[in-house]
This record gives sequence, C-alpha cells and structure tokens, in this order.
Amino acid sequence: MEYRIGNGYDVHPLEDGLPFVLGGVRIPFRKGSVAHSDGDALIHALCDALLGALALGDIGRLFPESSDLYKGIDSRILLRESYRMVVQKGYTLCNADITVLLQEPKIFPYEERMRTTLAKDLQCRKDMISIKATTTEKLGYVGRGEGVSAYATVLLKTKE
Ligand code: MG
Repeated sequence: MEYRIGNGYDVHPLEDGLPFVLGGVRIPFRKGSVAHSDGDALIHALCDALLGALALGDIGRLFPESSDLYKGIDSRILLRESYRMVVQKGYTLCNADITVLLQEPKIFPYEERMRTTLAKDLQCRKDMISIKATTTEKLGYVGRGEGVSAYATVLLKTKE
C-alpha cells in the first residue's frame, strides 16, 4: 500500500451583500466571498490538498479564472472533478482535516452539513472528514472580517 499526503490553502475577500458558501453549504451572513467561482475557500483548499498529494497541479491551473466555463461555478463540481483525478490515479481518501479561519459568523452550526456534503462528493464516510474553525482573535484581515481563509490536509492511499 502506498500513501500520499497533500496540503492546500485558500483565501477569499468578504464583501457586503454577496452569497457566502463554505464547505458546499450556503451560510446566512451579511457578507460573502468575492470570487470568479462561488468563492468556497474551504473546498478550494481541499481540492488543492487532493491535487497536491499526487502532484497534479492546483485548481487555479486546472480550472482557470480566465475561462468563462468556471464563472460562478459551484465549487462542489471542482471538488468532484479533483477527486475523480485522484481515483483515476488509483488512490482513495484516508482522511481530510480542514481548518477555517473566520472572525464571524460561527460556522459550528453548519459543520455537520458541510461534512455530510463533502463526504458525498468524496464518496467516503463522514468521520473521514474533519472541519475545525478558529477566529484570529481580531488580528489581521480575517480578524477585521475582510476575508476567510482555509487550510486542508489530506492523506490518500492505494488499494493495496
Ligand atoms: Mg479560491
């Protein structure tokens, strides 16, 4: 059996009046992500971790902002496509551990739904996906509510 580890990181600015989508779940909030896609920083970090584990590049390269194809796209489509590439290489997910940095709102009430949603897209059990959140104690752009960032780590394995 072979193992590969990957990490991913993403940031999106937050502005008033935009939809806020995180982990594939729409979160009611006065602000939302500024992005070419739906701006789901959590999923983007997760995609980059999956792709990075197998040195397949990153989502910016595979799904370029210059293409109208990806304008406003549901990031779950990018996640399913990233995972399809992982499976095609003969690997499956062992687990994913994700940390979201966000001053507000609290995302704890949405974590279960996010994990269920991601587990569906990654064809895995919910207990293979961990989502944690922290504020930055009001420091920096996250602390001022100007942006959201996310880190993801994944472990992949071959079947034998
Ligand atoms: Mg992004």
